[in-house]
Amino acid sequence: MQILDGKKVAAAVKNSIKDKTAALKASGQKTPHLAAILVGNDGPSETYVANKVKSCEEVGFTSTLVRFNNNVEENTLLQAITKLNDDIAIDGILVQLPLPGHISEQKVISLLHPDKDVDGFHPINVGKMVKGLPAFLPATPYGIILMLEHYNIDTKGKHAVVIGRSNIVGRPMSILLSRNTNPGNCTVTICHSHTHNLKELCMQADIIVAALGKPGFLTADMVKKDAVVIDVGITRVADNSKKNGYVLKGDVDFENVAPKCSYITPVPGGVGLMTIAALLMNTFNACYCKV
Ligand code: NAD
Repeated sequence: MQILDGKKVAAAVKNSIKDKTAALKASGQKTPHLAAILVGNDGPSETYVANKVKSCEEVGFTSTLVRFNNNVEENTLLQAITKLNDDIAIDGILVQLPLPGHISEQKVISLLHPDKDVDGFHPINVGKMVKGLPAFLPATPYGIILMLEHYNIDTKGKHAVVIGRSNIVGRPMSILLSRNTNPGNCTVTICHSHTHNLKELCMQADIIVAALGKPGFLTADMVKKDAVVIDVGITRVADNSKKNGYVLKGDVDFENVAPKCSYITPVPGGVGLMTIAALLMNTFNACYCKV
C-alpha cells in the first residue's frame, strides 16, 4: 500500500508554479491576481479562504480578499462581482461556497466572467469540460487528476466508482475520469444517496472516489484488494482532547481500508492540499494562458 501524499505533490505543483511565475515576472509580465470573496464567518470557509490567500503569497501571486457580512444583500454581492469582472488587474475570482440561504449561488456563479472563473463552476466552463475543450476545471477533481498523474496511476479501462454527485466534486470527477485523456478513460459509475447496491458496486471498483461527507463511510468490506481509494471527505468531528475541539475525518475508514489498497489518500494531507494547488494552476492559466 502506498500513501498518495498530497503534501508532497501539492508542494511540487506549487514550486513549479512559483518558478514559472518568477520567470514570467522577470521578463516583464504581470503578476497573477486572485480575488477571493468570503461572505459571513463560517469557520471552515474562513480557514479555506485563508489557506488560499496564503498559498497565493507563497507562489508569488497577488491576492485580494473581499469580505461581506452574512446578511449582505444579493445585489451588493452581484455588484462587487461585476466590478471584479471589469477590473483588468484581476485574473481570477473565487466565491467561497456555501453562500447564505438568501443568496442564489447559481446567480452569483453565472455572473462570474468565465475567463476569470478559476473554480470552474460557471456553466460555460462546465460545458467545455464535458466536451473536453480547454476550460478551468473544478479545483478538487482537477487536484485529484494531478495526483493520479503524479503517481502515474494507470486508470485506462479501469472501473471507477464515484460516491457523491455534487456539482463541485462528484459529478465533475465522474466526467474527468471518463474523458479520453490520461488520467481518464475509466468506466465510471456515479453513486448517490438513492443508489441501492452501493456496496456491490464499490466491491467491483478498481478506483473509488469517496465524496459524500460522511466520516468513515467507506469500510474495508466495501473495497476490493488493491483498489485505489481517494478520500475527498473533510468533516469536523468533535474531539475534546484537541485544543481546537475537533479532528478532521475523511469519508473512508482509513485504518481498516488502507491495508487492502494499492494507493490511498489520507485525511488530512491528501485531496485538500491538492485542491489549493489546482486553484493556483487555474489562476496561473487565467493570467498567462487564457483558456
Ligand atoms: P454535498 O453534500 O454537496 O454532496 C454529497 C453527495 O453525497 C450527494 O450527491 C449525495 O447524494 C451523496 N450521498 C450522501 N449520502 C450518501 C450515501 N449514504 N450513499 C451514497 N451517496 C451519498 O458534498 P460535497 O460538497 O460534494 O462534499 C463532499 C465531501 O467532500 C464533504 O465532506 C466536503 O467537506 C468534502 N470536500 C472536500 C474538498 C477538499 O478539498 N478535500 C473539497 C470539497 C468538498
